[in-house]
Amino acid sequence: MRSNTRIAEIRTAVAVCTLFASVSLSLVGCGASGTSAAAAAARETPSNTTASQSSSTGTGNQDSTATTPFVPNYTTEAGVMRHWNKTSLTVAFAAGTTVPTDGIAQLNAAISKWRAATNNPITITKTQNPSTADVVISYVGTDVLGDTTGHTEIRYLNTDNTLVHADVEILNSLTGEELAQVTAHELGHAMGIGGHSPDVADLMYSHAHLPFVITDRDANTLEKIYADAKVALTTVD
Ligand SMILES: [Zn+2]
Repeated sequence: MRSNTRIAEIRTAVAVCTLFASVSLSLVGCGASGTSAAAAAARETPSNTTASQSSSTGTGNQDSTATTPFVPNYTTEAGVMRHWNKTSLTVAFAAGTTVPTDGIAQLNAAISKWRAATNNPITITKTQNPSTADVVISYVGTDVLGDTTGHTEIRYLNTDNTLVHADVEILNSLTGEELAQVTAHELGHAMGIGGHSPDVADLMYSHAHLPFVITDRDANTLEKIYADAKVALTTVD
């Protein structure tokens, strides 16, 4: 049965919508596609959350069990949060993928912005070898992504939700800040944010929109994932 070592593989709910690719700087709703994606994310059931199911949005939710507040955040609103059992990840481009002209620069920008926004509970470093990298990025066309601009597929241990690999696909026609934002958004999924924020201002909202900003909520969410993981680890024995 391999129950202890079985690796479950899932496709995360849709990443971001295409409107973003068509230069519009304003946020545009993505209709049914985005809605169903959010619903799909919400249907995933967190296995180890003990937080009460309140839908607090800036109302000063007091969680008496919280040892790691990091508020505001959207850890209870954005699907299943998972984490790596390490604090440093490597990322590489997939073998044979055609990296856009400014793909490296915008990957650097994405990594830098996460680094600047958080206290680095987990860091990402570029490497050359996709066969050993934790996160592998491919640039693909609409034939693969349909009407989305990015997609992340994660692999995790279904025994404890720890991540073991992430494959990121990014629309190959993106450039500049748009490319940086979609890259950062997908890296957010790769680092453990399992779904989408309900707040349009957040990077991890399901529909991308400029400017490219990582909000306090985004940063707190990532911080809380790893702070909670640390608490869980240290209280096991
Ligand atoms: Zn997404």
